[in-house]
Amino acid sequence: MASVITLLVACLPVVTLSYIAVCFASPWGTCTRCRPGGKNRTCRACNGTGKRPRLGWQLYVYARRLRRDGNH
Ligand SMILES: [Zn+2]
Repeated sequence: MASVITLLVACLPVVTLSYIAVCFASPWGTCTRCRPGGKNRTCRACNGTGKRPRLGWQLYVYARRLRRDGNH
């Protein structure tokens, strides 16, 4: 059992780094409410653009803002 946990912990940084790489490669994901092709101008989730920033990208922007505010 302990080996399974060790394996999971060992994989975690790889998964996290992969996710960060995806976020930087393409920070904008497809809006899950509109779906491709079904662009909805009245969609509130994406403001009618059909694209939404990924959660990882939002976290990055948030962290960057926090750091910038701390450097006053
Ligand atoms: Zn949308």
